[in-house]
Amino acid sequence: MDTTAHTPQGKLIIFSAPSGSGKTTLVHHLLTQKELGLAFSISATSRPARGEEVNGKDYYFLSEEAFKQRVFNGDFLEWEEVYSGTLYGTLRSEVERIWAEGKTVIFDMDVVGGLNLKSLYGDKALAVFVKPPSMEVLEERLRGRATDSDDKIRQRLAKARKELGRADRFDHILLNKDLDTAKQEATQLVKLFLGK
Ligand code: ADP
Ligand code: 5GP
Repeated sequence: MDTTAHTPQGKLIIFSAPSGSGKTTLVHHLLTQKELGLAFSISATSRPARGEEVNGKDYYFLSEEAFKQRVFNGDFLEWEEVYSGTLYGTLRSEVERIWAEGKTVIFDMDVVGGLNLKSLYGDKALAVFVKPPSMEVLEERLRGRATDSDDKIRQRLAKARKELGRADRFDHILLNKDLDTAKQEATQLVKLFLGK
């Protein structure tokens, strides 16, 4: 069922970046500021949960078959094979749920997905590209995070080179060098966009 006709549309904030740039860190910082009225859009993925991840909190973990069935049902606003064999997507129901609560949806999303959402929602969406200071720093952050194998890190860096070339299609490029400065800038951008 398409529920988009019933719930008034709210606003969306999209943080996209190459993996390791710091978008999750910045989005978490924004979510701690309750006065901004933001709620995180939980994506669906066909990859298994890692470490401490919880179903329905970090992601909705679906089998590949269940994911594809939901694609067929038209349940996704956007979806993508972000890494070979691994599907990720934004459920329509997730955005509807957050808007029905009167909140603004915030996304932590790869660059292609972020641009797809921006083109769906236009001026209702603020699309921010989080830029690492350099490829060397990006690699250090990925290694420092210690969540990925060498092979995964290589895949992520190769993807990052392509993604950096798309930065100028976003509404704003936020350089994440000094973390406190980047956090302040992120808060200012969101306040300005929401008129707060
Ligand atoms: P992403 O969500 O873009 O993949 P993360 O938010 O997971 O990136 O950040 C990647 C790693 O870099 C994490 O270990 C995080 O703590 C660290 N990090 C984020 N921003 C900065 C910064 N400005 N300076 C140093 N380390 C940072
Ligand atoms: P991870 O497996 O590290 O959690 O995420 C891998 C990548 O998938 C990240 O770049 C993340 O932003 C992206 N991603 C997470 N959710 C979605 C989504 O709903 N749609 C798209 N297109 N990408 C997503």
